[in-house]
Amino acid sequence: MGNGRSEALGAWGCGVPVVKFLRATSRRTRVLLALVFAFALLMVVGAWAAYRYAEQVEIDTLRETAAHRLDGYENALTSEVRHYSYLPSLASLNADVLAMLRHPADRDLVARVNAYLQTVNADAGSSAFYVMDKQGNTLAASNWNLPMTFVGSNFSFRPYFIGAMRDGHGRFYGLGTVSKQAGYFLAERIDDDAHRVLGVVTLKVNLDRIESVWRQGAEPVFAIDSHGVIMLSSVPGLKYRTLRPLSADAHAEILRTHQYDAPGALMPAGFTINHTLAPNVWIESVARDNPLAASLPTPHPFPTEFLVVSRPVSGTDWHIVVLSNLAPARAVARSLAQSAALGLAFVAVLALTVWQRRRIVAQRLALREVLQQLNEDLERKVARRTAALSRANRNLEHEVAMHRETEAQLKAAFEELVQAGKMAALGQMAAGVTHELNQPLAALRTLSDNALTFLERGRTSHAEANLRMIGELIERMGRITSQLKRFARKAPTQLQPVVAAEAINNALFLVGQRLRKERVELTFDPQLASVRVLADANRLEQVLVNLFANALDAMADATVRRLEVKVDAEGDTTVIRVRDTGTGLSESVRARLFEPFFTTKEQGTGLGLGLAISDGIVREFSGSLRAADRSEGGAEFSIYLRTYREGNP
Ligand code: ADP
Repeated sequence: MGNGRSEALGAWGCGVPVVKFLRATSRRTRVLLALVFAFALLMVVGAWAAYRYAEQVEIDTLRETAAHRLDGYENALTSEVRHYSYLPSLASLNADVLAMLRHPADRDLVARVNAYLQTVNADAGSSAFYVMDKQGNTLAASNWNLPMTFVGSNFSFRPYFIGAMRDGHGRFYGLGTVSKQAGYFLAERIDDDAHRVLGVVTLKVNLDRIESVWRQGAEPVFAIDSHGVIMLSSVPGLKYRTLRPLSADAHAEILRTHQYDAPGALMPAGFTINHTLAPNVWIESVARDNPLAASLPTPHPFPTEFLVVSRPVSGTDWHIVVLSNLAPARAVARSLAQSAALGLAFVAVLALTVWQRRRIVAQRLALREVLQQLNEDLERKVARRTAALSRANRNLEHEVAMHRETEAQLKAAFEELVQAGKMAALGQMAAGVTHELNQPLAALRTLSDNALTFLERGRTSHAEANLRMIGELIERMGRITSQLKRFARKAPTQLQPVVAAEAINNALFLVGQRLRKERVELTFDPQLASVRVLADANRLEQVLVNLFANALDAMADATVRRLEVKVDAEGDTTVIRVRDTGTGLSESVRARLFEPFFTTKEQGTGLGLGLAISDGIVREFSGSLRAADRSEGGAEFSIYLRTYREGNP
């Protein structure tokens, strides 16, 4: 199609710019496609970058929030513990306690200590408060009067007892071996004034309250011990499970200290923590920066993806862990990515629109350029053609001028020819005219002589008659000369009404001498020729003289010599017919009759111009001259002329 177009335009002689224009257009289309592709790529990359960035920002915020919360959780936990921590120290200074440890068999003392422990425990709101001797046997306890009393139980295997005996104080979290209740054990060694060890006093604190506070929060939060076992949790199902597989040592230690030893309770015997806590979701992205890699059961309430943030609990070897749901962060990142993609798409569309607009403007300019070039081409062509036309026009004008000049020359030549013809006719008539004048001259001489004689003899009347005759002769001679003068006059053609009879008579007068001499019978009735024709009188006479002279020449050897002149009317045309009884016109003569210099006459007698000139003269009158051979012998020449009527031009 492109080719067809360029060819079609090529026919105007401007194919090259148009082809260039079309090529540029297809190149621009390719650029447009490349731009669209680039923008799409930019959109994808931009959206991805926006997603990554937003995700990171959201995760950082989550981490910050979680860390902030952790501070609060840790504070609550430590202050709870701190709240109780002074009680064992206080008990270690109690005189009854010291006395009882010195005299364990003193029932009164034991009863007093039991009452003291019971009262303090009740006032403090702790789980249990009890005193052991240095072997770990419980001598007195706040629950002395309850069926599950600690009194009599030995806790020497418990880490808090061991710690207290060794360092002066011990801390331990675990399940009660008697009560099967979880609790935090705060132990203090009791020494006498001589720094002899008497025993250990222990306060067991229930941390359930902390858990219930944690539960009010939205995200799962829990505390883990140094082995990674979850000991406090806002999610009950997680308790006593581990975050990572337990080492053999840790396993053995837990068994030995009966830390989570609660047969029939949450923790089955044999510590199957590892097995019940199957690794499920592993968040690499967040686990990477976190020492506590998370591996938690997926069912509700755990999100499939979460951020694990933890912090150590001061004064313990515990950590508090918060799991933050990553889904909202992801959602924000997604929506930001969508917004970025939309924004980029908008920018792309805007850029494309601007580009497209610029392209259209450029195309328009290019088109305008092409059109301008076409226009210039056209103008150049028009200018070339115009120049050629003006040249042709000038040539034509020159030719016309030449033709006019030629025509004028021809006309002048024709005028000369007419005059020459006239002169030739006059020359032919010269002999006759001379004769015509000689006769009256001779008569004049005789008459004048006679008149003189008559006067001498006194015969005046005779002399008078002679003089009158002389006058008439002179008048006749004057007529002849004036006719000749008039005939010889050289004047331009002037069309005017001419009475046919007058022209014919004048011509006959000029050839009258020959008619008489050659005894030619003339048939002409001027009465029947009173019609007026449009002609130049002088030239019409010249034509007639020529026709008469030719007729007389043709009849030179004829036995019957008759010249007939007749005037007929044919509509608006008047026909003057000149008939003779001469040689007639053979076909070959008739064919060449009006050719200049065609003559059948002897050398010197005819120039062969008479009929050619006559034909030219009649044409000037807008008439025609025709010749015909008469069946009865002789020739007939007809002059067709326009009839003049009053009122008609
Ligand atoms: P020219 O008289 O000098 O020969 P024209 O042109 O008058 O030239 O005549 C041309 C010729 O036409 C004549 O030579 C003659 O042969 C022929 N011709 C003209 N008039 C007649 C006529 N009336 N009868 C016969 N032949 C004629």
